[in-house]
Amino acid sequence: MLYNCHTHTKRSHDSSAELEDIVIEALDAGLSGVVFTDHCDCEYHKSVDIIKQFKLCEKDVLRAKKRFGGSIELMFGIELGDPLYAPEFASEITSAHSYDAVLLSIHASRVKNFETPFSVIDFSKLEDEFINLYLKQYFDDMLESVKTFDFDILSHLTVPLRYIELVYGRKTDIKKHYPAIETILREIIKRHKTLEINTASVEKGREVFFPDEKIIDMYLSLGGKDFSLGSDSHTAKGVSKGLKEAAELLKSKGIDEGVYYKNRKKIEYSLKG
Ligand SMILES: [Zn+2]
Ligand SMILES: [Zn+2]
Repeated sequence: MLYNCHTHTKRSHDSSAELEDIVIEALDAGLSGVVFTDHCDCEYHKSVDIIKQFKLCEKDVLRAKKRFGGSIELMFGIELGDPLYAPEFASEITSAHSYDAVLLSIHASRVKNFETPFSVIDFSKLEDEFINLYLKQYFDDMLESVKTFDFDILSHLTVPLRYIELVYGRKTDIKKHYPAIETILREIIKRHKTLEINTASVEKGREVFFPDEKIIDMYLSLGGKDFSLGSDSHTAKGVSKGLKEAAELLKSKGIDEGVYYKNRKKIEYSLKG
């Protein structure tokens, strides 16, 4: 009986999923709850009517709550992306509206001439040194965002590796960045925020989480204990992808509770089912 705290619907630019189809799949998979967290990538706030989109998502959630009643918990949130590109907009959007949960993400590092989201950067021919610098900026941006903005869950920490390593097959020396990662983890522990285990890249026989097990261990060794699970799905079918695997990993480390948010309040639930 798990909660998925990170999903996208057609109110995100990169999804065409109907919210009610996601709920039907979630019920089929036996999930206890889903948080809908459409994109709010702040660098696009002038070219895309983000507020209109998430208000439509909120309406979709209310409609689904009426239809599905008490059979599953449905919650409304946002994925606040790249707030450093438009800090005032980011602060306003989190304070002026009510959400169940706010996710914090970096999708585009502030690297000169490479400000597009890393999902569309071709890393295949870039120098190792550049990739290292790119990652350094990603972690710097993440730390500054964690310190600056209001949020509940830190999403998909280290996710540029999904593209650099998994898509383009480039090797990185991520250990070089462990001190920066440790600083970020210490900061979210200090601020009582939650670390997401993002399961979007889990495939049969390939249990890849963002962040990975070593970083999960680092968080635990620093005293972190609050984890949310997020499939980061952009289709209805993907809503439960990898969640059980992530829950198993946590249980193998003695973590028996996950968290989700309602009205921005942290709620613990048992991972044991
Ligand atoms: Zn994201
Ligand atoms: Zn997402």
